[in-house]
This record gives sequence, C-alpha cells and structure tokens, in this order.
Amino acid sequence: QADTALFQAKVAGRDTLSFFDPEIQARLQARARLESDLRQALPRGEFQLYYQPQITADGEMCGVEALLRWQHPGRGVVSPGEFIPLAEENRMILAIGGWALESACRQLAFWAADPERQHLVMAVNVSPVQFREDDFVEQVLAILDATRAPARRLKLEVTESLFMEERDDARAKMLRLSERGVRFSLDDFGTGYSSLSYLKRLPLAQLKIDQSFVRDLLEDQTSAAIVISIISLARSLELDVIAEGGETEAQRDWLTTHGCTRFQGYLFSRPQPLERLPLSLSATTSDSP
Ligand code: C2E
Ligand code: MG
Ligand code: MG
Ligand code: MG
Repeated sequence: QADTALFQAKVAGRDTLSFFDPEIQARLQARARLESDLRQALPRGEFQLYYQPQITADGEMCGVEALLRWQHPGRGVVSPGEFIPLAEENRMILAIGGWALESACRQLAFWAADPERQHLVMAVNVSPVQFREDDFVEQVLAILDATRAPARRLKLEVTESLFMEERDDARAKMLRLSERGVRFSLDDFGTGYSSLSYLKRLPLAQLKIDQSFVRDLLEDQTSAAIVISIISLARSLELDVIAEGGETEAQRDWLTTHGCTRFQGYLFSRPQPLERLPLSLSATTSDSP
C-alpha cells in the first residue's frame, strides 16, 4: 500500500514528491515489471493450482483447498502473497480468480464421478474484488454448469473484510449461492474486524482459525484463549471449525483436546500439485491407464 501511495504520488506529478531515492525507484520498477509480467501470465498458461489436504480427527482427507501458484518464467514460483494484492489492485484478480475457480471445479467434477473421491470438498479462495462484482453469483453458477461440478462439494473461502462494507449485498449473494448448495468458510478468522453479530445472519458453514493463532497456541496464552473462543463460538453457532497452519503433533493434540476436529497444515501435507496429493488423488482421464 505504501508502494501504491508512492506510485500515485509519482504519477500525480511534480508538485507532490520527487523520486531520486534509488531504492524506491528500484522497487517501483520491480513492481511495474511484476505487473506487466502478471498481465501475460494467464494467456501464457503460467498459473497452476496446488491442493492442500484438509483432514478429519481420524486422519482422513475430507477435502482440499485450492491454492494458486504462478510459475514465473524468470523468477520461479511467485507466491500468491506477492501477486494477489497486486492483482486485486489492478483487478486482474477477476480473470485470475475466475480461472482458479473454473480449474478447481473441473477437478471437482472428475472427483464426483469417482466413488473413492466423490466425498471430497473443494475449497476455493474468493477475493472481495471478485465477490463485489454485480454478476458474481451468475459467474459461479455458470462455472458450476459448464464444469458439471456438484455445488454441494464446493466451498468458497471468504474473509471478514467482505462484511465491513456492503454487508447486505454480500449476504444476499451468499444466500443465493447457498440456496444452490454452495458452502462458505470464513477464512483467517480472528484477524479481521470481527463484529460478531453478522455471523448469525450469514449462511456460513465453517470458521477457519487463522494460522497465526495456531502457530502460537502452545507458547502464547492469548492465542490459546482466542482459539478456545473460536471453537466454542463455532459450536454454539453450529458451524464447522477448521484449524489452519498446524505444523506439529503437539498443536494437533491440543486442538483435538479442545474440540477442533479439522486440520489443514504442513503437519499433514504442504500444498501439492494434483499428481502429488496423497492417496493417489490424481483423477484425470488422461492419467488413467
Ligand atoms: P489462505 O487462503 O489463508 O491460505 C492458507 C495459506 O497458508 C497458504 O499459503 C498455505 O500454503 C499456507 N499454509 C498452510 N498450512 C501451513 C502451515 O502449516 N504452515 C505455514 N507456514 N503455512 C501454511 P499460500 O498458498 O501462499 O496462499 C496465501 C494466500 O493467498 C491465501 O491465504 C489466500 O488468501 C491467497 N490465495 C491463494 N490462492 C488464491 C486464489 O485462488 N484466489 C484468491 N483470491 N486468493 C488466493
Ligand atoms: Mg483460504
Ligand atoms: Mg487462511
Ligand atoms: Mg489469507
């Protein structure tokens, strides 16, 4: 955001600030380069989805979260933390996010045709920029239709930021999609604005405990207290709860003891390309013998 402010100041012209600071200059150039590369990335097929398993208390995989990876021709893999904020600012996230949703739904449709995998739920992240589009609901429904993916196995991950403004609009869209079977998970829960009153008005299926709390819960009493509260909140609202970012057995044991029964974290698996998912989940027709 600081970068953007500076960039805008620069564009605004000479009355604002002058940029002879070589470090800032270099950063602006790097950003501009990344942005122009990003414009090419989709047509050049440089995006890929990785999938990270979601695990039940019995250690069974109940679903995956689809996570974007950008295979940059010169820089190797660029993480979404780096390119998604940029794509949101220049609205390229609309095309990129649409591609991700469609690719994930295509995979979901393959799983639906396979008795061993048809129980798997596909979680897909949706940016507030996508969600705020007037025809967001129609876009999702069109993708479900085109791919023939089962709506009940699709879970959209949204963040609290969506409910800070335009609450009624967001709620109306969620209601329309949930009427069609699509479920919603509230990602990074606990890090956002958290006016808890909206929770009971939204058709949510799941709270996803942010990984920052999971990471610290054994060392930090505040994090532990927050996690306990989220689990109990989920229980009283009859929502599912999943802990994100668990890396150790000790964290998993603590979470189980405190009533959290779903996990997603490096302890079980890092995000993987489809063909490396455990339980040989690479269900594509071309791979079949
Ligand atoms: P997120 O949705 O909260 O995704 C979870 C992030 O935590 C992922 O990072 C995942 O790799 C990471 N993670 C999972 N388990 C562990 C763990 O045990 N330890 C650690 N250190 N990290 C763990 P990733 O893949 O870099 O994605 C970052 C963010 O980028 C995501 O956060 C999400 O907000 C966004 N993102 C990714 N794919 C998409 C997409 O298709 N569309 C949109 N709009 N956003 C996406
Ligand atoms: Mg997510
Ligand atoms: Mg998260
Ligand atoms: Mg996040």
